[in-house]
Amino acid sequence: MDFYTPTQSERRPIDWVNAAFLIVTPLVAVLGTAWYVRNYGVTWLEIANVAVMFVLTSLSVTAGYHRFFSHRSYECSKAVKLFYLVFGAAAVENSLLSWASDHRYHHRYVDSPEDPYNILKGGLYAHMGWIFFKDTRDQDRRFENVPDLMKDPLVMWQHRWYLPLVIGFTFLLPTLIGLMGGRPVGGLLWGGFLRVVLVHHTTFFINSLAHLYGEKPYSLKDTARDSWWLAPLTFGEGYHNFHHKFQADYRNGLRWWQFDATKWWINLLNWTGQAWRLKRTPETLILKARLEVDKELVALRARQANASERLWARIQARLDAGSVRLQEAHASYVLARAEYRHRYDDWTQEMRRQWDEKLDAQRADYTAALERWQEMMSAMNRLSQPSAQSLLTLTALMDVLKHRLF
Ligand SMILES: [Zn+2]
Ligand SMILES: [Zn+2]
Repeated sequence: MDFYTPTQSERRPIDWVNAAFLIVTPLVAVLGTAWYVRNYGVTWLEIANVAVMFVLTSLSVTAGYHRFFSHRSYECSKAVKLFYLVFGAAAVENSLLSWASDHRYHHRYVDSPEDPYNILKGGLYAHMGWIFFKDTRDQDRRFENVPDLMKDPLVMWQHRWYLPLVIGFTFLLPTLIGLMGGRPVGGLLWGGFLRVVLVHHTTFFINSLAHLYGEKPYSLKDTARDSWWLAPLTFGEGYHNFHHKFQADYRNGLRWWQFDATKWWINLLNWTGQAWRLKRTPETLILKARLEVDKELVALRARQANASERLWARIQARLDAGSVRLQEAHASYVLARAEYRHRYDDWTQEMRRQWDEKLDAQRADYTAALERWQEMMSAMNRLSQPSAQSLLTLTALMDVLKHRLF
């Protein structure tokens, strides 16, 4: 199939409208708000204005522009869609059609010249630098990667009416809220300028910081990283390594303790019947990805320690056996757990007791396999830099593993 490859020429002319907006809004947000507070103080309505507008526009970008429209990770009602499109426009990050097209190119060509916010061009470029330049791509072919969105009349309506929507919901709405308290300028500064700058930079962090700092638990193939500290600032989008590996998943933070407000919002929509068909990656695939990363790291260590072909073959055999054993134990446990949950209500007391025992045994088997794997990984990670000593340690380690693990 002939895929369009959008080439971003290195020397693009400056887009003065974008540049002016990105420079003037922070100046007005900081200096203007400071001047206003100094002269007129601040009211609770202004604090509420910035907070509520921030939450509404951020969620429209993360749950709407990103996880719903760009990745189709769930389905939702028309009302929710309309909300995303209206308040998404108020984030002033382009129309949904352009945003989603850029974002799909980002995933498809990540870390390459065709990635619109390629991190390899520098953190500042990926953060906001890329917006300062005119889009020189073939505009007719640019939207080839969003045919589903182009068929959506609501999306096309927002694309056509983007500018009036920006004016109305970015600046006019917060001004009217301010007017309710008799302070329209306060409303404009807090809920308009300050809020739009906050939304901008927290969203931009995903393209810059989330490709620079953090862990890579699910894939080593690109620069995307998971960072727990970025998650609260970005409504959960900080778990970016997971997202790049499993982009169709409606979750970015997988565990209950990982901050993912966007996921919680989508769950809330689901419980209230406003969202459905939430896509989840099967647990077995997630474990497989993590084990692949572990194996790749061990391979790297072995290469650094100059391990011989023979020794490496032995290590690889152990790794493969360990990961197969762990994946099998995990798959049986997940299967048993699903059946337990599904059929529990139909069972007699005695069957429930038997299944409790069976499930406990499977869980214990999986936990034991996991502990063995982790033990093997931490032993491998203790290997030091290339030296004759580390090679000896590696050989000795393999003998220990052979007896202890399998
Ligand atoms: Zn990314
Ligand atoms: Zn994405």
